[in-house]
Amino acid sequence: MEYLSDRVRSLSVSQTLAMAQKGRELKAQGFDIISLSLGEPDFETPDYIREAAKKAIDGNYNKYPPVPGYNDLREAISKKFLLENGLNYSCDQIVVSAGGKHSLINVILSIVNPGDEVIILAPYWVSYWDQIILAGGKPVVIKTLLENDFKISPGQLEEAITDKTRLLIFNSPSNPTGMVYSGEEMEKIARIVEKHEGLFVISDEIYEHIIFSGKHVSMASFDFIYDRVITVNGVSKSYAMTGWRIGFFGAPLWIAKACNKLQGQFTSGVCSIAQRAALAAIQGPFDDRDRMRDAFLRRRDLICRLLDGTEGLRIRVPQGAFYVMPDLSYFLGKSSDDGTLISNSDDLALYLLARAQVAVVGGDAFGAPDCIRISYATSDDLLTEAARRIKEALALLK
Ligand code: PMP
Ligand code: GLU
Repeated sequence: MEYLSDRVRSLSVSQTLAMAQKGRELKAQGFDIISLSLGEPDFETPDYIREAAKKAIDGNYNKYPPVPGYNDLREAISKKFLLENGLNYSCDQIVVSAGGKHSLINVILSIVNPGDEVIILAPYWVSYWDQIILAGGKPVVIKTLLENDFKISPGQLEEAITDKTRLLIFNSPSNPTGMVYSGEEMEKIARIVEKHEGLFVISDEIYEHIIFSGKHVSMASFDFIYDRVITVNGVSKSYAMTGWRIGFFGAPLWIAKACNKLQGQFTSGVCSIAQRAALAAIQGPFDDRDRMRDAFLRRRDLICRLLDGTEGLRIRVPQGAFYVMPDLSYFLGKSSDDGTLISNSDDLALYLLARAQVAVVGGDAFGAPDCIRISYATSDDLLTEAARRIKEALALLK
């Protein structure tokens, strides 16, 4: 007999991680799977960062670290926020967590009460929804259209806000669409937030360095809402450090203190060695970070060029991150040659896995039922082969 809590029952399994696992299992059985499901750079962590971790092991970083992170790491993050984002966060406004994901749940648990509404913008990153549910909050989804570059209008935001709205989760560059809001577009959103006292914004900026034109703008740089923004970031994507599990955020002091309290009960702080590696990462040099960004740009061009013109596939060229989210609604309702009906985007993702041996993620988990998400953080050769197989498999649907 199982006695699972309602809390856990109400959660779904992370679809990004689930599809990645499915792909791995089939690969282990000998299938020639190309995995475009997980949002993870295929590069190895740069040498200077690994060296710092080795030094930390030999330097006896063995004891419990301070709960919100080592002081010198928080100082370096404070400097990074100032130099790269124009944001003033003192060290005690900064908390280091076990990944950006952990930073997000810390903040959500700190400010969302059961019944509070949290606005998310579809297509949204999968974990936002479940983290809100975990806190007892109510996700309120604003839908966007491919024709509008998957961006909301200020009017849509205004309409969605009620007296129960506590939080807006904003993510640019976006996972899963790769879209990037301009400073002007963000200012319009910030002006609406300003009008609603008690409304906070999590600005998830984890892809800030993977941006292909223009400059990243931080939501907290609009000083009229600075004290209502929590700026979440981390080293996973920019420095190819997904496995090291280091995220961080800058926030109003009372939120940072609350998260410190939470971490004190949950984790006692973050792995000491990974923190030393993260310190090296954000101090640079940044040649590796730039090189990886350039590679993602080249691959973006490649995958978009290869998919462009495919019958039934509509695409918007992403401006950042390493995802592309084609609309494949044309194929929903069609059947494969063995008679299997493709009734939704998850069916389509499973069909592509079985027929094309390419792992992608169905759009349903992102609140985008007409789309699939392709992560193009892999080699040019694999992308070329994957695009060929996807096109061939789609053409078989009748
Ligand atoms: N936010 C977004 C939008 C992401 O895509 C990810 C990727 N996993 C995260 C946060 C969290 O990243 P991590 O926990 O690896 O730092
Ligand atoms: N953010 C990545 C993705 O969306 C990693 C997986 C995860 O953390 O859920 O695929």
